[in-house]
Amino acid sequence: MFTIGEALIDWIPAEKGVGLKEVTAFSKAAGGAPANVACAVARLGGASAFIGKLGEDAFGDFLVETMDEVGVDTTRVLRTREANTALAFVSLKEDGNRDFSFYRSPSADMLLRPEEIGDWFAAGDVLHFCSVDLIDAPVKEAHRAAIARCREAGGIVSFDPNVRLPLWPSPEACRQAILEFLPLARIVKISDEELAFITGIDDEEEALSSLLAGDVEHVIYTRGPAGATWLSRGFRADVPGHAVKAVDTTAAGDSFIGALLYGVQRRPDFRSGIDERAARELLAYANAAAAITTTRPGAIAALPRPHEVEELLAGSR
Ligand code: ATP
Repeated sequence: MFTIGEALIDWIPAEKGVGLKEVTAFSKAAGGAPANVACAVARLGGASAFIGKLGEDAFGDFLVETMDEVGVDTTRVLRTREANTALAFVSLKEDGNRDFSFYRSPSADMLLRPEEIGDWFAAGDVLHFCSVDLIDAPVKEAHRAAIARCREAGGIVSFDPNVRLPLWPSPEACRQAILEFLPLARIVKISDEELAFITGIDDEEEALSSLLAGDVEHVIYTRGPAGATWLSRGFRADVPGHAVKAVDTTAAGDSFIGALLYGVQRRPDFRSGIDERAARELLAYANAAAAITTTRPGAIAALPRPHEVEELLAGSR
């Protein structure tokens, strides 16, 4: 499976519950949702490759090394001297939620160009993308090129909007970019916090159904600790989350969709459609992987290994 978009440095504050102005120290962590998802798949034992551009700088080296160590194929990562690797400064609120302040003007990831996308995709391959790099920059067209090539090859395109409003000139610009790319995906993952914003519909049922348009055949709706829902034209499956002691929900969504796509990749029959039972199994696996991620601090460091997911699932049967 492939992910495309940003890999960046998350600067994690030493203190919780204070604004960026008051933070006294930050520590460096690899991040960026598409990079996290590639790592989630590799950590579970699956094959994954990250497509993106990084600066020819120390932070770019760090990100490539981190992905390599986890087992992600980084041979499609390009490097440039034209811009630096993106940085995101994070502030942690008391409730564990995060605020971001991004430094990219532009950053190297935004300079990935459509002609740099190769003939990399085969039938059944999964290509996953998010919305941060759908900003007006060459990388938006690179996404379009990768998605077109993957679709032509008979691949499965997956989209997690993963809304990050501070990056956009306005909320509406973010929403429009998401709406432009939604119909190109076969699988769409969306969280309860994003649904009304993206669809513009307050009623949950109506909003979810509205997403089944264009190429979209599977809507995966995550509801934090409550678990997740799979909506397709034929069925709706709700699978509860696991009760765990959550300490840091960073990358829970990335761990979730990584585990789900790892499962999709392992089902050669997925392209011809799946039934409710299979959807429930995939959701249960993804819920378990994401729950484990919330029990540990950090993003990539918190992603589970396969035996941990199996153990949690076995304990809940
Ligand atoms: P993120 O905060 O990483 O952006 P998200 O908003 O995309 O995540 P959520 O709905 O918050 O997505 O969480 C994704 C999945 O992670 C949930 O469907 C659930 O399986 C798991 N999860 C999240 N929070 C918890 C929790 N406190 N306890 C157990 N599982 C959780």
